Amino acid sequence: MSIVDEIHQLKKEKKAVILAHYYVPGEVQEIADYIGDSFYLSKIAVSLQADTIVFCGVSFMGESAKILNPEKTVLMPDRQADCAMAHMAVKETIQKVREKYEDLAVVCYINSTAELKRYSDVCVTSANAVKIVKALPNKHIFFIPDRNLAHHVAKQVPEKHFIYNEGYCPIHDEVREKEVRKLKDLHPQAQILTHPECSEKICRMSDYIGSTSGIIAYAGRSPQKEFIICTEEGVRYMLEKENPEKIFYFTDTVPICKDMKSITLEKIKHVLKTGENEVQMTKAEAAVYEKPLKRMLELAK
Ligand code: 13P
Ligand code: SF4
Repeated sequence: MSIVDEIHQLKKEKKAVILAHYYVPGEVQEIADYIGDSFYLSKIAVSLQADTIVFCGVSFMGESAKILNPEKTVLMPDRQADCAMAHMAVKETIQKVREKYEDLAVVCYINSTAELKRYSDVCVTSANAVKIVKALPNKHIFFIPDRNLAHHVAKQVPEKHFIYNEGYCPIHDEVREKEVRKLKDLHPQAQILTHPECSEKICRMSDYIGSTSGIIAYAGRSPQKEFIICTEEGVRYMLEKENPEKIFYFTDTVPICKDMKSITLEKIKHVLKTGENEVQMTKAEAAVYEKPLKRMLELAK
């Protein structure tokens, strides 16, 4: 029996579903029941009937699924797979900023630890951040941890005052202007599609800025045939699958998130078989963290 067949059989036995982010390897996306951006995956996690969720992504994703579904078993194929940016804010700074501004909302990008979410008023993803920040009654916004996404949102919500935090994604922040320009010179017709975790310089050059799902949807509906993609290269799998007639270019320094790439079919089979790498969280603990995630789901409707 092939490993893919074994996984399908184990999934049936354990009443499990597999969720995957667009950055995991193509063969993992291929066996997933649901693939999407962080917003889609957190929404879908709430509506699933299955007893067990295998989350093919990094730890904040599995953790968020568990917070929203404390009664379900959430398994992580690789417990070490983490998002560097998720740790790039500290609660002491949040407390200090809260003391300074009375009318403050702490807006927490979902790429953050459960502990950071606990001290925040609302979570956002790249797909819904503008909508949610606009909907908040507060004038002052402390946006953690990502400074690049914060700047992108601030531009679109000029009526609010933003306080920035110095977090960033080491993969997106490294996408270089020089390399994007080189691609644009070689392919002047190509449209530049960018994730808002990239620097302001890259965002300024772009034809479209959005979440991974947003980038994939834009490439699908655009009449253009060539695209320069400024995000982690895992999206290439779906872009090429859905648009075989189109061409996608990535910078010479290909943006690769090693943590996302550590998810393999072998590891998925192993956790399904053994039940290892379960996200551990009691209902009482989940209740401490759930408020900003639930508020996000509510405000994003
Ligand atoms: P999306 O929510 O756009 O899928 O992004 C998640 C992420 O980790 C980007 O680096
Ligand atoms: Fe985190 Fe960046 Fe990897 Fe996304 S690409 S999971 S933000 S380290």
